[in-house]
Amino acid sequence: MSAASDSSFPPSLQGAPLLVVGAGIMGAGIAQVAAQAGHPVWLHDAREGAAAEAKARLARSLDALVAKGRLSAEALTQTLARITPVSALAEAAGARLVVEAIVEKLDVKRALFRELEGLVAPDCVLATNTSSISVTAIANGLAHPERLVGMHFFNPVPLMKLVEVVSGLQTAPAVAEAIFALSAAWGKTPVHAKSTPGFIVNRIARPYYAETLALLLEQAATPAVLDACLRAAGFRMGPCELMDLIGHDTNFSVTQSVYEANFFDKRFMPSLVQRELVDGGLLGRKSGRGFYAYP
Ligand code: NAD
Repeated sequence: MSAASDSSFPPSLQGAPLLVVGAGIMGAGIAQVAAQAGHPVWLHDAREGAAAEAKARLARSLDALVAKGRLSAEALTQTLARITPVSALAEAAGARLVVEAIVEKLDVKRALFRELEGLVAPDCVLATNTSSISVTAIANGLAHPERLVGMHFFNPVPLMKLVEVVSGLQTAPAVAEAIFALSAAWGKTPVHAKSTPGFIVNRIARPYYAETLALLLEQAATPAVLDACLRAAGFRMGPCELMDLIGHDTNFSVTQSVYEANFFDKRFMPSLVQRELVDGGLLGRKSGRGFYAYP
């Protein structure tokens, strides 16, 4: 019997122990939001020490909020106390929800979820923060594909309200509803989406980045001019600074995945500019340099 055919599956996830896998830009933000909502959170990263570093970064940014009077010292202490970095996934076998935020590669995500299925309880919900990869494809090969769902946050996670709750072909409706309800309980604005390439926002955003990158390749304008134009047009950030924030490695992977999933439709073709930045290690804010330099 599948876990999802049990009418009580999944139980409410509010306050449930949660495992976040991947302590990069997104995983750290998801751990923060979950801990602030009262969940005990295990944070794991394949790179030894990365989860502890993410927690230390969070401590510094929460300290700054306390100094500005925007967070109480008590809330800071409670939030940090709820986050436990773990070096082995098995230490988090008691999780009732896993949110995966690792590298945007189908084979790596699949391998992780297969490993997780052998560790966590049958009623543990498995969520992926993928930006673009088919949730249906990630679930392929799982013993219980019905418990895998997309939980797509936006960057920076503590500030951005939207969460796309992405159902693959085998996702149980009850699982999608549980993630929808949890996102709302975390103060987010969830929407249901289907497992189409790039879902909703990244489908719309790809041509926006593509035209920006085409203008740069044509040397029609500098990143600073492009960003100034779009800011003056009312956007909160320009496209180049936004790509620097996302990370060019992640953004390039998303473009490639949407391009391939659309049968190499030229509208979604990646740009040489992206490949040069990634090959040069100029990944944006996270590496200290992308279109701009970050001290
Ligand atoms: P990141 O590069 O900042 O962090 C990824 C982390 O995953 C790294 O710390 C890496 O060491 C770790 N990792 C890689 N493989 C692993 C594995 N097998 N097990 C455990 N840890 C592993 O990337 P990010 O920007 O946080 O993106 C993570 C996911 O979130 C991707 O799927 C991405 O598409 C998605 N996403 C990113 C953004 C964004 O703006 N950056 C927005 C929404 C969704």
